[in-house]
Amino acid sequence: MAIERTFSILKPDATERNITGAINALIEKAGLRIVAQKRIRMTRDQAETFYAVHKERPFFGELVDFMISGPVVVQVLEGEGAIAKYRDVMGATDPSKAADGTIRKAHAKSIGENSVHGSDAAETAKIEIAQFFSGNEIVG
Ligand code: ATP
Ligand code: MG
Repeated sequence: MAIERTFSILKPDATERNITGAINALIEKAGLRIVAQKRIRMTRDQAETFYAVHKERPFFGELVDFMISGPVVVQVLEGEGAIAKYRDVMGATDPSKAADGTIRKAHAKSIGENSVHGSDAAETAKIEIAQFFSGNEIVG
């Protein structure tokens, strides 16, 4: 399988509880390499653009409010099949359905405050990485 890059966010519920290091440990244990990382506060505009695909969903307003409620850590992860691998490591969106050993099983508070985001496909990974990182910020 090819070496890929995926985009990750450690969400405000993770920075609030000071568990970004614990989550990074699970990411690295899975064989993914953190090749870019920065702590930011997302603007409403950035969050609305980022989650535009969910604009018509009933939880959109709540989701955007949550994503700007505190700092987040945006990351680029690299590894063999990184996109699917990170989705596996994150676990199901709803933590009550997430498998043992996943980040969301261990740390997520609810379906909304679920600690992490990971890109769902190669095309979205590329777009999401470009929204938050310039090329020279990614060091593989
Ligand atoms: P993400 O895109 O953040 O990696 P995901 O791909 O597992 O998560 P999506 O269906 O894309 O899940 O939903 C995006 C985010 O919207 C979820 O991670 C969660 O924070 C929020 N969300 C999804 N469903 C609900 C819901 N029913 N109620 C509240 N928030 C939700
Ligand atoms: Mg998604």
